[in-house]
Amino acid sequence: MNKEFIPSSAMVIVAHPDDIEFGCAGTCAKWAKHGAKIVYVLVTSGNSGTHDATHTRETIAEVREREQRAAAEICGVHEVEFLRYNDGEVMPTLELRKDLVRMIRKHKPEVVIATDPTRMYSGKEYINHPDHRAVAIATMDAIAPVAAMPLMYPELGPAHKVREVWIQWVDDPDTWVDISDTLELKVRALLQHKSQVGEEMAQRIRDWALQEGKGLAPAEAFKVIFLEKRGEPSSDSKAPESKEAAMAQGS
Ligand SMILES: [Zn+2]
Repeated sequence: MNKEFIPSSAMVIVAHPDDIEFGCAGTCAKWAKHGAKIVYVLVTSGNSGTHDATHTRETIAEVREREQRAAAEICGVHEVEFLRYNDGEVMPTLELRKDLVRMIRKHKPEVVIATDPTRMYSGKEYINHPDHRAVAIATMDAIAPVAAMPLMYPELGPAHKVREVWIQWVDDPDTWVDISDTLELKVRALLQHKSQVGEEMAQRIRDWALQEGKGLAPAEAFKVIFLEKRGEPSSDSKAPESKEAAMAQGS
């Protein structure tokens, strides 16, 4: 087997607290264990996510941010960013795209893990949440090309080219990460979302991971888009990093 790929840094961009724990938290924990710097970006704080009428949008958001930070800590994640859009109302707007460019340029991830912008439904029983789709579209647009274009939003810092995009929750994965060593961290992380899930979810997560790994090993599955070839310098490394530099070059 090839030596396993571990990026130096990765950013996960999702709509809701617990989207990562239901998705790629095992991979994040594994990469963090091997030295990768991981940042989570949550577009909403899940401020509609309760049936408990004693909560307000503000109080449930507070609870869910706390749960998300606890989950991130278990997986060795370095930072969690909340953009605090309203849960259930996310659209792929220019404003969201710009906010995500800000995040990408601030943290300069080698890899971004995203959700699937084309997924409207899955199987016979699930229609994808509109926030998932909206965040996925804005993420793709922020990565390619906007974050890498020095003349777009120069006030947000130097252009940054993400090298690989890993898409979670896809029907046609092409890449599997063996999470044998971090499955229990993923389970513990998911169970931090006490306002959303109960202990019974632990075994389901283990079962799903084994299914993803075709019964061979617990795994998480992705479709990977390579914007740069692995091991090669960035094709944009000679690109000017600021509007001023670009103008100085006469471009
Ligand atoms: Zn979600």
